[in-house]
Amino acid sequence: MEKFNPFKMAQQQFDAVAEKLGLDGGTRALLRVPEREMHFTIPVRMDDGTVKVFQGFRVQHNTSRGPGKGGIRFHPEETVDTVRALATWMTWKCAVVDIPLGGSKGGAICDPREMSMLEQERLCRGWIRKVYDIIGPEMDVPAPDVMTTGQHMLWMMDEYETIARAKKPGVITGKMLGAGGSLGRTEATGYGVIYTVREAFKDFGMQIQNATASIQGAGNVAQYACELFTEIGGKVVAMSCWDNNEKKPYTYSCDDGIDPKYIISNSPDRITDKFGTIDPQKAADLGWKKEDGDAWLSKDVTVLLPSAKENEIRIDNVNDIASTVKIIASGANGPITPEADEVIKKRNIFLIPDFLANAGGVTCSYFEQVQNNMNYYWPKEEVLQKLDQKMSSAYRAVADLSKEKGVYMRDAAYMIAIERVALACKLRGLV
Ligand code: GLU
Repeated sequence: MEKFNPFKMAQQQFDAVAEKLGLDGGTRALLRVPEREMHFTIPVRMDDGTVKVFQGFRVQHNTSRGPGKGGIRFHPEETVDTVRALATWMTWKCAVVDIPLGGSKGGAICDPREMSMLEQERLCRGWIRKVYDIIGPEMDVPAPDVMTTGQHMLWMMDEYETIARAKKPGVITGKMLGAGGSLGRTEATGYGVIYTVREAFKDFGMQIQNATASIQGAGNVAQYACELFTEIGGKVVAMSCWDNNEKKPYTYSCDDGIDPKYIISNSPDRITDKFGTIDPQKAADLGWKKEDGDAWLSKDVTVLLPSAKENEIRIDNVNDIASTVKIIASGANGPITPEADEVIKKRNIFLIPDFLANAGGVTCSYFEQVQNNMNYYWPKEEVLQKLDQKMSSAYRAVADLSKEKGVYMRDAAYMIAIERVALACKLRGLV
C-alpha cells in the first residue's frame, strides 16, 4: 500500500472542490501549495551534557485573510508533508468560521514524553530563535497542538519577547492563565466539536438525552468533548487512549457513560498518568472494560468523535462503523481519508468535517489575541458564549449550503472557505 501522505490528501480535497467552484487556474495554483515554509535545525543541550539536533518546521499556507495561525506539533513521526497539510487545513478552518486569520502550522520531530522539562524548554526557546523573523502578532501566530501545552507556549512567548525587547503576548496563543491566556481556551476545541454536534441533533429533531458517543483519543480535545457531551445529557460509552507504557492504544468502554472527571487532565479524580495513559487497574475498579485500540470505531453509538490523529478512518476499516451511527464529528485534523469519505457519503452518515468541527480552538485563540491587544480579559461565560455563537453560525451556514446544493458536508465547508480565501486573494490583486 502507498504510504499515506496527508498533504496529497489536502490537495486532492482542494482540487475536487476547486473544480466544482470553477476556480481559475491562477487561484488554484496559488492555493494548492504553501506561500512560504521554513525548515531548520534546533541544537539542544540535553541534561546529560550532550547535544541533540532536532528538525523543526513552520509552514505558512495562506495569509490573504490575515496573519497566519496554527499550532505547533511535537511528535516523533512529524513530517513536513503533515505540517503542510495541517497549514492548508488551518487556512480553510479560519475561513469557514470567518475569523480574519490565515493558515499556518509548525512542528518539531521529537518526543516530549522522553524529554525532561528543562530539555523541552530549551527546545521551545530554540524553535523561536529560528522562526523569529517570520512569526509575530501581525505575521504568524503559533498555538498548541499535538503534545504541546500552555507551558510550551509561555516559554516561546518569553523567548520572543526577550529578543523583541517588548511585551508581545499576541505572538502566540493557548497560553496559560495568568500570563496572557484566555479563560475557556483549554475547553474550546472539545466544546466547539460538541456545539456543532448539538446543532446537528437539532437539525435531525433528535434528542441528546441518553444519546451515545464513542471517542477516539483521550487528549485535550477528547477530554472536553466528553465533558460537554455528558453535560448536555449524552453518554460517552467508549474512549480510546494511548498507553505510553505499552506504546499502543486501548479502548475503554462503560455502558453507563465515562465520567469526564476521571480523564480531564487537571481533575483531582483523574485516573491517567502524566502522559495521559489511563491506569488499567483503576479503570477496571470503575467497571470500565479494556478492549483493542480500534474497538471505539465499531461501537453501536449515535455519534463518533475521532479526536486523535490523521489517517484513522480508512478504506480498510470504514466498514467497521456500526449501522447505528448517525453523526461523525472530527475533533482531529484529517482523520478520514478521501476513500473512506466516499463510503461515509454513500452510507448517508452525517459528517461534520474536521476543519469545521474542531475550529473552536483557533476561534478561541483569536479571542485570546483580541483580549491581548486590548489588555482586557473577558469572563469565561463571555468567551464560551461568543465561541458557541461563532461555531453554531458556521455550522448553520455549512449545513444550509449542503442542503441547498445537495452536496456532502465536507464539500459545502470547503466551498464556503475556498470562496472566502479566493475572494481575499482577488481583492488584493494577487490573482
Ligand atoms: N492546533 C489547533 C488547531 O489545529 C489550534 C490552532 C490555533 O489555536 O491557532 O486548530
